[in-house]
Amino acid sequence: MDNGIRHILGKKTFTKADIVELLMCEGENKKALFAKSAEITEKYIGRKVWLRGLIEFSNICGKNCLYCGIRKGNHNIERYSLSDEEIVQAATFALRNSYGSIALQSGELESCNVTDRIEKLVRNIKNLSAGKLGITLSVGEQTPETYKRWFEAGAHRYLLRMEATNELLYAKIHPNDAAHSFHRRLDCLKSLQDTGYQTGTGVMIGLPFQTADNLADDLLFMNGFDIDMCGMGPYIEHADTPLANTSGGLLSIEQRFELTLKMIAIIRIMMKDINIVASTAMQAIYPAGRERAISAGANIIMPNITPLMYRGSYRLYDNKPITDVRPENSAATALAGAEVAYGSWGDSSHYGKRTGIRQ
Ligand code: SF4
Repeated sequence: MDNGIRHILGKKTFTKADIVELLMCEGENKKALFAKSAEITEKYIGRKVWLRGLIEFSNICGKNCLYCGIRKGNHNIERYSLSDEEIVQAATFALRNSYGSIALQSGELESCNVTDRIEKLVRNIKNLSAGKLGITLSVGEQTPETYKRWFEAGAHRYLLRMEATNELLYAKIHPNDAAHSFHRRLDCLKSLQDTGYQTGTGVMIGLPFQTADNLADDLLFMNGFDIDMCGMGPYIEHADTPLANTSGGLLSIEQRFELTLKMIAIIRIMMKDINIVASTAMQAIYPAGRERAISAGANIIMPNITPLMYRGSYRLYDNKPITDVRPENSAATALAGAEVAYGSWGDSSHYGKRTGIRQ
């Protein structure tokens, strides 16, 4: 390892230039980066990974993000929406298998019906599990009132990925209209934090037009926002999207994978006690992609427990794995030497420290 990297890794806080250097490092320097993140993970998180049984309950979306396979304008997919009964059944599966938590995810829709329905579902799942299942929501931009109602119903974590925290880059990967406002997304993230959720965000890595400076700013943004959870993944094209035709300057898929590992390692060093997801997109590139993410500092995996018949239709990007494994059978977790923490919520200890609230 050279002295420059040793100096950076010994610092309490990173500057933007430090992060860019870490993102670019190779060879022994890269090994030193991952060794540092492993040391921090061991100290602040231990060797456990927690589960979020992922229920992708609807692929109907009112938005048209230029990279997303379930965007409203894509007419090449079959739309579905699980019934309340199917959602509750999936939650019951998670409970019986001691997953500890579920994550309810869908395309973005805002309406009174959606608000009422999700509120009722959250309450039902809380009741049926006698509070044993932690509930994460990831259903996009909503009003502060809606966030509050869902929080009071029992959801306590919310993931709202920015995808890009640089406003200019954001504008390049979204339609230029009021429904895709960078500032509204930021306001929503703030509103979630103000409501009391364990709040998570994240970005795509390896987007067209994206620079190392952008990625460094993404990490500084998350640190400055004091997030509790981070979900980042490599950008993977979906053939039926406008952004798939913008290939100029794109990194290879392997480079995007490696860069994502470095982003995970750096955020783990910067934000020692947050929850970090080993995303399915990593597994889409390499079968053991989630294992690599766990080795780099991630501590959350999200086994897909959506009924199998619907999984092929929630294709955000090409080659998304649809036949997920039961976590206990996962070579990924076994190889990473991690131990699955069954039956516990697995809250981010960062949240407890940030707010003084222990859940
Ligand atoms: S990224 Fe989210 S909001 Fe955008 S089109 Fe896809 S599901 Fe809808």
